[in-house]
Amino acid sequence: MPSQDERKRFEMGGPVGAAALSLFFIALTYLNAEKNVSGEWDLFQMPKINWDIRQWVSLSSLLGLLAWFGIQLVLYSLPIGKSAYGPVLKEGRKLEYQLNALFALDVNLLGIIAAFFLGFPINVVINNMLQLLTAGILTCLVLSSVLYHLADYVEDWRLNPRGNTGHSFYDWFIGRELNPRLGSLDLKYVMFRSGIIGWMLMNFASLIIAFSEGKNEVPSNLVLLVIMQLFYVIDYFWFEEGILVSRDIVYEGLGFNISMQFLMIPFTFCTQTRYVATTGYTSSWMTLLGIFIIYGTGYWIYRASNLEKNKFRQNPDDPALAYLKTMPTESGKRLLISGWWGLCRHPNYLGDLLISLSYALCTGFQHFMPYLGFLFLVMLLIDRENRDSEGCREKYGKDWDKYCQIVKYKIIPFIY
Ligand code: NDP
Repeated sequence: MPSQDERKRFEMGGPVGAAALSLFFIALTYLNAEKNVSGEWDLFQMPKINWDIRQWVSLSSLLGLLAWFGIQLVLYSLPIGKSAYGPVLKEGRKLEYQLNALFALDVNLLGIIAAFFLGFPINVVINNMLQLLTAGILTCLVLSSVLYHLADYVEDWRLNPRGNTGHSFYDWFIGRELNPRLGSLDLKYVMFRSGIIGWMLMNFASLIIAFSEGKNEVPSNLVLLVIMQLFYVIDYFWFEEGILVSRDIVYEGLGFNISMQFLMIPFTFCTQTRYVATTGYTSSWMTLLGIFIIYGTGYWIYRASNLEKNKFRQNPDDPALAYLKTMPTESGKRLLISGWWGLCRHPNYLGDLLISLSYALCTGFQHFMPYLGFLFLVMLLIDRENRDSEGCREKYGKDWDKYCQIVKYKIIPFIY
């Protein structure tokens, strides 16, 4: 079982913070979904709430969502693509993952295009966003409750050290088990990639509707947004092995918190495309070029810095990285102190922020709502940087403080 210290430690403000965060996530996602459907973007204008329960809950949406998620589970299980092991967990254990997210993305996108040509009304995906969201929340509530109880029967090494405090609500929220599995089927990983694929489906739905209803004119901003976001996701899935070592997959338990965060992706990340699709907003070609340059710069920083660290972690003696300065630590691992990782402690976050900013800029400056995602990412990455730094301080002790004196800035060189 987790140690006494581990059991006592609460994060995210403990049970009260967890409850507040649950409600906040739910409210924020409903707000996004409502705006995505209604196209009324004034953040300070109260949404016109339709109290007809059928606007919020529908059996067909629940069945549709479950069927779609079932397909994602099947796609993951197919012996397509290579398999790879995640990082070493407790007791030296490793989990094997099937790497076929790009294949799953292709199948989904071809599916929605085929559905359009077969006459399926694609706009039901957009028009039923609120019902789909309710279905998703119900699924998360049930799933996290079932997993909470099933954790009584799993081996100790599978438990989340931070999610077994003995406080039932908190543990349900944080997740008692790290990587619940049905045989080789990894639920957390499939939920995560389904969230991203769901985001792409929402984007494609907007694009298809715009093309089919667009009187021969599709807003250039919408096309650029969909292309930039699709490229980001293709790249993310191309380097799928890197996802296996990310914080969410390695350290987060599968409870309501993380499942709700994955569910938020399709409903909140598509807000900029929905904005452009509903308002028909277009910018000049020069503005679009400027936005694309910000995106390209962000992508370059994000990809190059992640590759540099990943290559270094895979083989610290790689001759191709011999030009980089490193710092030894008592743990035996070395830390990079030049190159991208000498500029600041999280150059990859900086790249991600520029990419996210470029999406928001595609919506102009008329409304604040499409900038919420960017603002949210700023807060998320600042918090993540703090938590990662705490984790590194635990791993590296005084060496980490020494490292922080050498690499002074957290995310933005010379500023933050
Ligand atoms: P990182 O990929 O930044 O990894 C952090 C780890 O890197 C540390 O724990 C440490 O682990 C290692 N490290 C830190 N500094 C150094 C150094 N100087 N030299 C060598 N190793 C170092 O963490 P995340 O999982 O948070 O992020 C992964 C990606 O996901 C990022 O690109 C991020 O931007 C992106 N992301 C995107 C989000 C979005 O919504 N768009 C949300 C969250 C993340 P160790 O030393 O043990 O190897």
